Amino acid sequence: MAKLTFYGGVGTVTGANFLLATDNCKILVDCGLVQGSQQAENLNRSEFAYDPAEVDYLIVTHAHLDHVGRIPKLVKDGFKGQIISTPETKELAELILEDTVRILVSDAQREGILPLYEVKDIAPALALWTTLSYHTKKELKDGVSIYLKDAGHILGSAMVEVSRGDPNKNGQVNKIVFTGDLGNSPSILLKDTEDITDANYILMESVYGDRNHEPKEERTKKLTEVIEDTVKYKRTLIIPAFSLERTQMILYEMNELFENGEIKTRVPVFLDSPLAIKITGVYEKYTEDFNDKARADIKSGDDIFNFPGLKFIVQGGESKMIEKTPNPKIIMAGSGMSTGGRVISHEKYYLDNPDAEILFVGYQAAGTLGRQLQDGAKKVTIYGEEKKVRAKIDSIAGYSSHKDSDHLVEFVGKATESEKLKQVFCVMGEPKSSMFLVQKLRDDLGVDAVYPEFKEEIEIEL
Ligand SMILES: [Zn+2]
Repeated sequence: MAKLTFYGGVGTVTGANFLLATDNCKILVDCGLVQGSQQAENLNRSEFAYDPAEVDYLIVTHAHLDHVGRIPKLVKDGFKGQIISTPETKELAELILEDTVRILVSDAQREGILPLYEVKDIAPALALWTTLSYHTKKELKDGVSIYLKDAGHILGSAMVEVSRGDPNKNGQVNKIVFTGDLGNSPSILLKDTEDITDANYILMESVYGDRNHEPKEERTKKLTEVIEDTVKYKRTLIIPAFSLERTQMILYEMNELFENGEIKTRVPVFLDSPLAIKITGVYEKYTEDFNDKARADIKSGDDIFNFPGLKFIVQGGESKMIEKTPNPKIIMAGSGMSTGGRVISHEKYYLDNPDAEILFVGYQAAGTLGRQLQDGAKKVTIYGEEKKVRAKIDSIAGYSSHKDSDHLVEFVGKATESEKLKQVFCVMGEPKSSMFLVQKLRDDLGVDAVYPEFKEEIEIEL
């Protein structure tokens, strides 16, 4: 038997943190930052509800901040076990944590408080971190083993299968799968999410548990139209984009549009994000993770994240050069919700310009500048300065990296085929999304799906 406790990512998308304990082995899966509110900030700063020193392993599903953001605190607070992830995730997490700590420290300085952790807290975490490639079994303590499958969500994202022979039932192996976030397969870039075929339990994400995405064909068509209009009306197009995965998706899309002659005019494209540039470098190292189409393009000699006109802006202070470049031009910068990063400076400069357009390619959370603009605000305040919004504001849905409701149900449907599946825990979603998915899994598949509570302990056969 084993005990599963839900220490984060319950009733909310962010802050994933699950503890699986057998008699002699304690495994954490993910240790993410809670994001999006002042309450989140307090949760991040609060003590872990378990003793980090007693945890043997931390397994990391992928490098998004809501899955890795509290790792330096965990280590600072006494964890000295092993951290395990794919090599891709380790490399990306290092970049994400370095970028995050910079923001945490400067925010804390502004507020006159101590940061959640500091630069010096990252190296000790990396020193405990070992890597495990997909499809390789690793034995842990107490008869427990793990195996990573491709989740198809972002580069290096893994589902963690945790298996253990049941000492009471000779030879019988039980398995729980932690999905992490599940990719919106087929992805432009990545391989499809692998199937789960013989799990007894699944602990799964449910971000889009209650809704479906727009058809994918629409997004490329829309992106093409927006770029064509940028050229035709000589605009400045600003695309706020997350540095991890979204930027690489858009670069690959643009690469196709510009190189296949879909868009005939050459437009200067500035990728103004040192983090996104570094992350793109990691993507270029792991092309074996890409789908057949992307690998075939690379094999034919195409540098899929680069095309004529694309300029990488590493140094700060080059915005003057970007501003002086005549229209039409495209600027991509983070953050994706205009909550920080270089995109804000560009928005500040261009928002009152009717020859500019802001194109959102991702979800904009309530309270963010991105959301205000998307909701049609006529004026906004940026760094204490009021700006009129004269630029055109547009959005493309469909670039999500998460499975939608129907595909989450289909994913579990495949896992029921072996008839071993006992229970599904729907987490990492807003309550209404998770609860909707629970009901749908019960109704459509007859699966015992549950919506656990924060800090609830559930006994499982492992
Ligand atoms: Zn994620």
